[in-house]
Amino acid sequence: MRCTTTLITLLTTLCATPVLAHSDGMAFDASAFLGDPQVVDCTLEDGTASTCFEFTVAALPEELEIGPFCPATLDDVGGLWQWDGENPGLYRLDRAFFEMLDAQGFTFYDDTGAVAVTDIRLDQPTADHACLSASLAPDVTMTIRLPMEPRMAQAPTPLGTVAKVGVGLDGVPIFADAPSVLERDHLPALDVCGGHIDPGGWYHWHATATDMATVLENEGVEADCAAVVQNAAAPFGFAFDGYPMFGSTEPDGGVPEGLDACGGHVGTTAHGETYHYHASQSFPNLPACLVGVVAQDNFATTAAQGIGAANPRGGPGGPDAGEMPPGFDAAAETLGVDPETLFEALNAAGGPEADLSEVAATLGVTEDALRTALPARR
Ligand SMILES: [Zn+2]
Ligand SMILES: [Zn+2]
Repeated sequence: MRCTTTLITLLTTLCATPVLAHSDGMAFDASAFLGDPQVVDCTLEDGTASTCFEFTVAALPEELEIGPFCPATLDDVGGLWQWDGENPGLYRLDRAFFEMLDAQGFTFYDDTGAVAVTDIRLDQPTADHACLSASLAPDVTMTIRLPMEPRMAQAPTPLGTVAKVGVGLDGVPIFADAPSVLERDHLPALDVCGGHIDPGGWYHWHATATDMATVLENEGVEADCAAVVQNAAAPFGFAFDGYPMFGSTEPDGGVPEGLDACGGHVGTTAHGETYHYHASQSFPNLPACLVGVVAQDNFATTAAQGIGAANPRGGPGGPDAGEMPPGFDAAAETLGVDPETLFEALNAAGGPEADLSEVAATLGVTEDALRTALPARR
């Protein structure tokens, strides 16, 4: 069954089946969609036949102001970074931060105080340590599928580095932790709302942007996510398993109680009594895992490189040229992780010679499971 409409409320009328699990909950900003959203037949990752809400979004919502990202010099102030070396925490990208990293052996600037900045969509960094930004590719689009009737998985799926988390109500994709400078040498700067542009040229968040004020205050970081209306009680988006994501408080301002390891619980929301996720008060304020089952093909982009692209390692933005090794997607599916996540974890741990115990720990699976799932090593 396939049907099309511009108004979500009409979906219930035009598509008598299926019943929408949260008919009001799929309350995306109408401006989030390029073209008409559709209800399509889909298969969930556990093999269940289901129906999905499918829509296409732009590289950046029209009205969203983004940045700043990398500062040009030590006298400028850029966006944010979650530092995981000594003195870990969320920092503003300013002189004090870059001088702290310099003292730890990561020097991002020259004698004149100019910061090494690379547009990762167009170039590879030449400096040992570069602040990465990426220019927008305005014509790139992403197509997203959310299960209309969310289904609990047998066990939660851990969200590793750059794992797909979900999508904001304004259509901006949401991803888990950005790659570590300790592993990659370079720093893909986030802006003051916790987002940045992928090497594919489209903007995404690594944080619950509607509740950044709570995080910034809690972490003592001087920054203001003025581009996004801040409201700790507001709905933020939907995880790719179809469950809604909210800020760090309940709608009445109360503290959420009984949150599980993923940061969610069942309770009353604007979408009725349902499982939902809450943002934490520290960065990254996103679910730690997904409790539900995501749809197959839940994220695709027209971008030539980056997350979700047909060849995510192609182009200058990828850490490695070339395609995913054969058997990789099947291995990722067996492990219940994204192929990109598996690739990133292997790459971070040393590529072909990766220490599999380290990779297994990153992915939250056993080393045995990882060895069994991986294609035979050459
Ligand atoms: Zn990112
Ligand atoms: Zn709640």
